[in-house]
Amino acid sequence: MSSLPEWDDLIAGKGCPFCQPQAESNEFEVKVASLRLSTLCVIRNQLYHGYCVLKFNKRHVTGIEQLTEEEYNLFMQDLRQAAAAITKAVTPDHMNYVTLGNIIPHLHYHIIPRYKTDPRWRAPIWTTDVKEMTTKLLDEKGYQELVAGIRKFL
Ligand SMILES: [Zn+2]
Repeated sequence: MSSLPEWDDLIAGKGCPFCQPQAESNEFEVKVASLRLSTLCVIRNQLYHGYCVLKFNKRHVTGIEQLTEEEYNLFMQDLRQAAAAITKAVTPDHMNYVTLGNIIPHLHYHIIPRYKTDPRWRAPIWTTDVKEMTTKLLDEKGYQELVAGIRKFL
């Protein structure tokens, strides 16, 4: 992420990685599906099994306050549909919905299945020190099975 444009450019959408054509798969994520106004992706760090990101993809906006009423309604339908599918696919104990935009200020939600057995149960998944955070990668078959499992319920 060190090659990202400066903050003010990102806010304005200049060089925004989420405004570019989205790959089916890259080093960060694997696409699950295109929904009404968004793209659902499984992220590669699967420490929290089923962790996905839902990116608003109609245009560059940094927050929900910039959406029209119709866009907001459709995007929330996407969020609910994605969350329902992920829940059916991985049966978590709880779900976290987080929108931050501190690294890429383009509207997206982190949809994070939480488990009583997960490393930070009853707390946010993020620590204040990035170096303390753990990564769990799957093999390609693992990502494809997860993607297929979620797609089945969309
Ligand atoms: Zn953007």
